[in-house]
Amino acid sequence: MRALPASVLAVCGLIASACGGTGSGGAAAGQAAPATTAAQASPSSATAKQAPPEAKPLDGKVIVIDPGHNGANYRHPAEINRKVNVLTKWKECDTTGTATNSGYSEAAFTWDVSKRMTKILESRGATVKLTRTSNNGVGPCITERAAIGNKAKADAAISVHADGSDNVNHRGFHVILPKKINGPVDKVVGASSKLGIAVRDAYRKGTGIPYSNYIGKNALDYRSDIGGLNLSTVPKVLFESGNMRNPGEAAKFQDPKFRQKIALALANGLQHYLEA
Ligand SMILES: [Zn+2]
Repeated sequence: MRALPASVLAVCGLIASACGGTGSGGAAAGQAAPATTAAQASPSSATAKQAPPEAKPLDGKVIVIDPGHNGANYRHPAEINRKVNVLTKWKECDTTGTATNSGYSEAAFTWDVSKRMTKILESRGATVKLTRTSNNGVGPCITERAAIGNKAKADAAISVHADGSDNVNHRGFHVILPKKINGPVDKVVGASSKLGIAVRDAYRKGTGIPYSNYIGKNALDYRSDIGGLNLSTVPKVLFESGNMRNPGEAAKFQDPKFRQKIALALANGLQHYLEA
């Protein structure tokens, strides 16, 4: 539904830097943050005790949340399987994602968690942009997901996912972080690592979900084959919330109250990074 014309995607795929705006400077600086209305003066005649609008911790910060996959991807295999250039290789434009054994999809999970995160972060003053507008569309491609963060000059960006390992003993979460690839992402590799560690710590504390027992080291996994990271010129991580095929974690992910806990933990991690 939100798929872009093939020509646009081709440009993104082939000349990745063309999708990242100027590609210099704006990465972590946040200088593009819109001025907030802190100076909104209330008429002095009004209730004298009225305090000025309270400053919020994330005022002026731009955060891009990328809810992994999309609910109708599985119905559009040709569109989704089309190969795009992620600098280190060619990869599918997007994938369907996984699901719990009872059929709760990763796309529905990431969409719900991302909306919850949006509410929390906006209430703390941030400007939040999502890479898709519903859970019944297709895509966008991973190249476009990265481009959205770049164009927004996000202070931080996060792709929300959950894994699907068939081994039911596999459990826990991990964060995928970018590596230097002699590309535009190189200058945000360090900041992305800090972001990933902040989010990891907040997630474990807030949800009790353990570090992955099958991927990464201390829940950190540095990779050079992830399109949404390779093409990012802003600090960004891909978060794998746990294993949807593990019955214990699946039960948690299917519980709206637990998803709120997840959203709060991820929002806290982003805030810790942005305040550091
Ligand atoms: Zn995923």
